Amino acid sequence: MSNESRAGREAAPRNHPLSDVAADLVGREKAFGANNYDPLPVVLTRGQGSWVSDVDGRRYLDLMSAYSAVSFGHSHPRIVAALIAQAQQLGVTSRAYFNDELPYLFERLVRLTGLPRVLPANGGAEAVETALKAARKWGHKIKGIPEGRAEIIGCQGNFHGRTIAVIGLSTEPQYRDGFGPFPPGLSTVPYGDSDALERAITPRTAAFLVEPIQGEGGIIVPPPGYLARCAEICRRHRVLLICDEIQTGLGRTGRLLACEHEGITPDAVILGKALGGGLLPVSAVVGSDDLMQVFNPGDHGSTFGGNPLAAAVAMAALDVLEEEKLVARSAELGEWLIGELADLKSHIVRDVRGRGLFVGIEVDARYITARPVVDRLLARGILSKDTHGTVVRIAPPLNISRDDLAWAVSQIHALFRELEAELKRAA
Ligand SMILES: *Cc1c(COP(=O)(O)O)cnc(C)c1O
Repeated sequence: MSNESRAGREAAPRNHPLSDVAADLVGREKAFGANNYDPLPVVLTRGQGSWVSDVDGRRYLDLMSAYSAVSFGHSHPRIVAALIAQAQQLGVTSRAYFNDELPYLFERLVRLTGLPRVLPANGGAEAVETALKAARKWGHKIKGIPEGRAEIIGCQGNFHGRTIAVIGLSTEPQYRDGFGPFPPGLSTVPYGDSDALERAITPRTAAFLVEPIQGEGGIIVPPPGYLARCAEICRRHRVLLICDEIQTGLGRTGRLLACEHEGITPDAVILGKALGGGLLPVSAVVGSDDLMQVFNPGDHGSTFGGNPLAAAVAMAALDVLEEEKLVARSAELGEWLIGELADLKSHIVRDVRGRGLFVGIEVDARYITARPVVDRLLARGILSKDTHGTVVRIAPPLNISRDDLAWAVSQIHALFRELEAELKRAA
């Protein structure tokens, strides 16, 4: 155990009303910002590896990793060095010109995914939009679907971002409420049910968009064989299979891509989050020649997509992923973590599930929801995040130390013992 980590543990507060400094910052954010987030009551100012600190100097172990954007830890020295060096050399060019970083990132992503062509973007939702545009155009120009009639099938409980088209595919009422009308040609089928997919396919279906494990939906792991059957169904009906690996990709689930668990190569993979090394928004669609041939100069673009700064940072992030062997580490630590958490013999806990370091603890709504659990973990010096009401998401940086993870596990066990005792007293 490092001294730093131990200090963090000792600093972990039981209760921490906001200090004046923190309250002032929270007040300003609430006064001047749109109210579309409800953050936990902690104001962060520093991060290094798996640890972050707040404006009052308290330290927290990050088991959330900014929804996997920080899969390689906060301010990884190697990625920061690449950022600084590239920023000093050449930052943004637009793609009106070639640059001397992007080609290497393309080559790297092609080698990693086994798919031949890359289209770079920034945020995840932008890459999903790009994939949907590609799929529709492929449907019309290559598959022969009548112009303007292409259909895309997604899954119930999906999360692919927040643009209008993408929320048009969402089944979460809050994500859609008031934001319509939505584009036509989008529908959903139950997640995990490949027969439902096959029934929903029509001659106008261009693509099936799916997360190999649903993240925001509550860390939902589909039944074994699901993705492989979907791939077979898509092939048989000449429907593109597009895997949204924005959150599950780059080692999160113990494989480089989560779709590798089922031995499939989709027609396109969407990457984001961790690809930016925890420093920048970097995303990409990596797809087959058949799909990517639909793009001609001028069809689609992005001012910042593929800029040399983003490319250099993404390559440094991929270097870290490879050199620190984080895919294997995620598999190994994840298996250990899920085993330890499965030991939470608490009747408050309904389920512990996940793959690699992508884990959800589902609590029983009859006793508690996830948010108070997350608040209580914060008070113990741990950042986690509730999702879907009853699921506590545990997704630390893939290079978290085993000691730190073990400490987190002991805190989680202690918290659930405490919650049990409180419930018993209240009964
Ligand atoms: C986070 C996420 C997105 C959206 O990414 P943004 O960068 O927030 O736009 C899309 N798909 C999945 C699976 C995600 O987890």
